[in-house]
Amino acid sequence: MTTITDRLAIAQHRITQAAQNASRRAEDVQLLAVSKTKPNEYIIEAYQAGQRRFGENYVQEGEMKINSLSQEYPDIEWHFIGPLQSNKTKVVASLFDWMHTVDREKVAKRLSEQRPDDMPALNICIQVNISNESSKSGVAATEVLALADSLAALPNLVLRGLMAIPSADVDEQTASQELAALHNLYLQLAQRFDTVDTLSVGMSNDLELAVDHGSTMVRIGSAIFGERNYNV
Ligand SMILES: *Cc1c(COP(=O)(O)O)cnc(C)c1O
Repeated sequence: MTTITDRLAIAQHRITQAAQNASRRAEDVQLLAVSKTKPNEYIIEAYQAGQRRFGENYVQEGEMKINSLSQEYPDIEWHFIGPLQSNKTKVVASLFDWMHTVDREKVAKRLSEQRPDDMPALNICIQVNISNESSKSGVAATEVLALADSLAALPNLVLRGLMAIPSADVDEQTASQELAALHNLYLQLAQRFDTVDTLSVGMSNDLELAVDHGSTMVRIGSAIFGERNYNV
């Protein structure tokens, strides 16, 4: 049976391989371990194997995990990667280190206002809708720079980059086109803001393609922790 430690090493190896194939440095692609729906024991096992960045999707679950683990594991970096209602911003502002899914100014303003004074600025990515599916969250590519300008003015946030979830079930060529457009937008943003250094894209199934298109942070869940069961 493969363990979380084994699977983490395999994921890391996939990143190294993909970086090499893209003539990039492996250390320029960070691994975010997505632990949503998985118990604290899984996080601890990954931690003991050297993993420090963890991603959570649900406010209440993230809050419980951070509250029970942060004392003993203070160097875990917690990333919020799920959709966020504006009435739930306070938990994210007061507990997380990163927030990947900002897609409107209202949420950003609340996060900045609610960030506690004794914590460093909250690291922010703007979620971009790169698939033009109306059901997906994220801002349209044409609106990213304007939103970035307004976020950059907020005192307790630091704009780090862009995040996206590519369309599921498209052919590889379409996926490549979406990722190339995202990368292009990211480069424009990085030129405009010197705090921007993060392109958060790529999951268990598409990390190679994402790294080939400039991803600097892949978000890997099931390849490390196993398939998720939402019915438990
Ligand atoms: C669940 C999730 C992931 C991880 O997906 P896997 O396919 O399990 O690797 C990455 N990003 C986001 C936003 C997610 O919700």
